[in-house]
Amino acid sequence: MAQDCIFCKIVAKEIPADIVMEDEHILAFRDIHPEAPTHILVIPKKHIPSLSQAELTDMDVLGALQLAAAKLAEEQGLARGYRVVTNCGDDGGQAVPHLHYHLLGGRSLTWPPG
Ligand code: AMP
Repeated sequence: MAQDCIFCKIVAKEIPADIVMEDEHILAFRDIHPEAPTHILVIPKKHIPSLSQAELTDMDVLGALQLAAAKLAEEQGLARGYRVVTNCGDDGGQAVPHLHYHLLGGRSLTWPPG
Protein backbone atom coordinates (compact mmCIF):
# COMPACT_ATOMS: atom_id res chain seq x y z
CA MET A 1 0.00 0.00 0.00
CA ALA A 2 1.31 3.43 -0.98
CA GLN A 3 1.01 6.23 1.55
CA ASP A 4 -1.48 8.92 0.49
CA CYS A 5 -2.80 6.90 -2.48
CA ILE A 6 -6.59 7.32 -2.65
CA PHE A 7 -7.09 4.02 -4.50
CA CYS A 8 -4.92 2.13 -2.00
CA LYS A 9 -7.18 3.59 0.69
CA ILE A 10 -10.24 2.28 -1.18
CA VAL A 11 -8.56 -1.15 -1.41
CA ALA A 12 -7.92 -1.02 2.36
CA LYS A 13 -11.58 0.06 2.92
CA GLU A 14 -10.32 3.19 4.65
CA ILE A 15 -12.53 5.31 2.39
CA PRO A 16 -15.83 4.17 0.92
CA ALA A 17 -16.51 3.24 -2.68
CA ASP A 18 -19.36 1.63 -4.61
CA ILE A 19 -17.61 -1.70 -5.11
CA VAL A 20 -18.98 -3.93 -7.87
CA MET A 21 -16.36 -6.70 -7.93
CA GLU A 22 -13.51 -7.88 -5.76
CA ASP A 23 -11.12 -10.81 -5.70
CA GLU A 24 -7.67 -11.50 -4.29
CA HIS A 25 -5.85 -9.21 -6.73
CA ILE A 26 -8.46 -6.86 -8.23
CA LEU A 27 -11.06 -4.34 -7.10
CA ALA A 28 -13.70 -2.65 -9.28
CA PHE A 29 -15.84 0.27 -8.17
CA ARG A 30 -18.00 2.98 -9.72
CA ASP A 31 -16.29 6.20 -10.73
CA ILE A 32 -17.31 9.07 -8.45
CA HIS A 33 -17.72 11.39 -11.49
CA PRO A 34 -19.21 9.11 -14.16
CA GLU A 35 -18.61 10.11 -17.79
CA ALA A 36 -21.09 7.53 -19.11
CA PRO A 37 -24.14 5.68 -17.73
CA THR A 38 -21.74 2.88 -16.78
CA HIS A 39 -18.32 4.07 -15.59
CA ILE A 40 -16.39 1.58 -13.50
CA LEU A 41 -12.74 1.66 -12.47
CA VAL A 42 -10.91 -1.68 -12.42
CA ILE A 43 -7.71 -1.58 -10.41
CA PRO A 44 -5.02 -3.93 -9.12
CA LYS A 45 -4.89 -4.14 -5.34
CA LYS A 46 -1.13 -3.86 -5.65
CA HIS A 47 0.05 -0.27 -6.00
CA ILE A 48 1.32 0.06 -9.58
CA PRO A 49 1.55 3.80 -10.32
CA SER A 50 0.67 3.52 -14.02
CA LEU A 51 0.90 1.20 -17.00
CA SER A 52 4.37 2.55 -17.76
CA GLN A 53 5.58 1.34 -14.38
CA ALA A 54 4.13 -2.16 -14.73
CA GLU A 55 6.71 -4.93 -14.85
CA LEU A 56 6.91 -8.39 -16.38
CA THR A 57 5.96 -9.83 -12.99
CA ASP A 58 2.67 -7.89 -13.27
CA MET A 59 1.69 -9.68 -16.50
CA ASP A 60 -0.87 -11.93 -14.80
CA VAL A 61 -2.63 -9.09 -13.03
CA LEU A 62 -2.64 -6.97 -16.21
CA GLY A 63 -4.40 -9.77 -18.05
CA ALA A 64 -6.78 -10.32 -15.15
CA LEU A 65 -7.73 -6.62 -15.13
CA GLN A 66 -8.79 -6.75 -18.78
CA LEU A 67 -10.69 -10.00 -18.37
CA ALA A 68 -12.43 -8.55 -15.30
CA ALA A 69 -13.43 -5.47 -17.32
CA ALA A 70 -14.91 -7.68 -20.05
CA LYS A 71 -16.81 -9.76 -17.49
CA LEU A 72 -18.14 -6.63 -15.79
CA ALA A 73 -19.23 -5.23 -19.16
CA GLU A 74 -21.25 -8.39 -19.74
CA GLU A 75 -22.73 -8.27 -16.24
CA GLN A 76 -23.63 -4.60 -16.69
CA GLY A 77 -25.49 -5.41 -19.90
CA LEU A 78 -23.18 -3.51 -22.25
CA ALA A 79 -24.06 -5.76 -25.19
CA ARG A 80 -23.91 -2.83 -27.66
CA GLY A 81 -20.26 -2.22 -26.82
CA TYR A 82 -18.04 -0.37 -24.43
CA ARG A 83 -14.57 1.14 -24.02
CA VAL A 84 -11.73 0.10 -21.71
CA VAL A 85 -9.02 2.72 -21.36
CA THR A 86 -6.13 3.55 -19.07
CA ASN A 87 -4.78 7.08 -18.93
CA CYS A 88 -1.01 7.19 -18.48
CA GLY A 89 1.00 10.18 -17.31
CA ASP A 90 0.35 13.88 -17.74
CA ASP A 91 -0.32 13.88 -21.49
CA GLY A 92 -2.54 10.83 -21.04
CA GLY A 93 -4.64 12.76 -18.54
CA GLN A 94 -3.90 10.52 -15.58
CA ALA A 95 -5.06 12.17 -12.34
CA VAL A 96 -4.76 9.27 -9.89
CA PRO A 97 -1.30 7.63 -9.82
CA HIS A 98 -2.54 4.08 -9.19
CA LEU A 99 -3.09 1.99 -12.33
CA HIS A 100 -6.77 1.81 -13.28
CA TYR A 101 -8.78 0.84 -16.31
CA HIS A 102 -11.90 2.87 -17.03
CA LEU A 103 -14.83 0.72 -18.23
CA LEU A 104 -17.20 3.08 -20.03
CA GLY A 105 -20.50 2.18 -21.65
CA GLY A 106 -24.20 2.72 -21.88
CA ARG A 107 -23.98 5.41 -24.57
CA SER A 108 -22.30 5.84 -27.93
CA LEU A 109 -18.72 7.00 -27.27
CA THR A 110 -16.96 9.33 -29.67
CA TRP A 111 -13.48 8.86 -31.12
CA PRO A 112 -10.88 10.28 -31.00
CA PRO A 113 -10.93 11.45 -27.38
CA GLY A 114 -9.99 15.07 -26.73
P1 AMP B 1 -7.65 9.30 -14.38
O1 AMP B 1 -7.87 10.72 -14.80
O2 AMP B 1 -7.53 8.36 -15.51
O3 AMP B 1 -6.51 9.19 -13.39
O4 AMP B 1 -8.97 8.86 -13.64
C1 AMP B 1 -9.17 8.97 -12.28
C2 AMP B 1 -10.62 8.70 -12.03
O5 AMP B 1 -10.80 8.43 -10.65
C3 AMP B 1 -11.54 9.89 -12.37
O6 AMP B 1 -12.48 9.47 -13.35
C4 AMP B 1 -12.19 10.24 -11.05
O7 AMP B 1 -13.53 10.64 -11.19
C5 AMP B 1 -12.06 8.94 -10.28
N1 AMP B 1 -12.03 9.05 -8.84
C6 AMP B 1 -11.24 9.86 -8.09
N2 AMP B 1 -11.48 9.65 -6.78
C7 AMP B 1 -12.43 8.69 -6.70
C8 AMP B 1 -13.09 8.04 -5.62
N3 AMP B 1 -12.82 8.34 -4.34
N4 AMP B 1 -14.01 7.09 -5.90
C9 AMP B 1 -14.29 6.79 -7.18
N5 AMP B 1 -13.69 7.35 -8.24
C10 AMP B 1 -12.78 8.29 -8.01
